[in-house]
Amino acid sequence: MARDGARGRGGAGAAPAGSGAERCRIAGVEAWIFDLDNTLYPPEAGLLGQIDRLMTDFIMRFLKVSEAEADRMRAHYWERDGITLHGLMEDHGVEAAAFLEETHAVDLSGLGPDPALTAAVAGLPGRKVIHTNGARRHAERVLAARGLAGAFERIFAIEDKNYVPKPERPAYLHVIREAGIDPARAAMIEDTVVNLVEPKRLGMTTVWLDHRDAGGEHPHVDARIGDLTRFLEAQAAG
Ligand SMILES: [Mg+2]
Repeated sequence: MARDGARGRGGAGAAPAGSGAERCRIAGVEAWIFDLDNTLYPPEAGLLGQIDRLMTDFIMRFLKVSEAEADRMRAHYWERDGITLHGLMEDHGVEAAAFLEETHAVDLSGLGPDPALTAAVAGLPGRKVIHTNGARRHAERVLAARGLAGAFERIFAIEDKNYVPKPERPAYLHVIREAGIDPARAAMIEDTVVNLVEPKRLGMTTVWLDHRDAGGEHPHVDARIGDLTRFLEAQAAG
């Protein structure tokens, strides 16, 4: 899954969440690129923790290592590559499909529909796609659980990007090329702030969903928001 960005302390950075950034309308956006995990549902749903647990279990069984060693390997590859799968494929011959199937089979019982979010996404003008470091099946399950099945024209999952994750540049280039998106007329919405560095370099408008009100200096962030639904409603209101 996506790696968390370093979170600075103090400093001005982007406009603070809750200070009105949600009500700011961003002009000229023709395509919206959404992250999935911890963006289209709150971190409190605990899905990423479940995926970490399933990955550790997979590594323990596949490589016949202890839980501590499996946990260390999972964290090491995630730190190094942005996803765990890449290193397991390259160094240990793990088969991607089996890994993704097993490690994304999370319990979604705590993840309910969000009618306000569904309405806000539906009312958002422009094209809408998903760009996730997670598996396609996982994205489809999460979207269905949230009442967002069919709300996005396309899902770009990790297997669609030749397993190159955000925040690596080729991942974004793949999405804009395949979807035919002009980055100068696109915005990306993400909870992991480091995943917005390349979108900004490519000319996109960057929207950071700062759930934890972490703040900090992130010059590549155009808008820092705390409430995705309110932000999307404001885009439709213009
Ligand atoms: Mg995320």
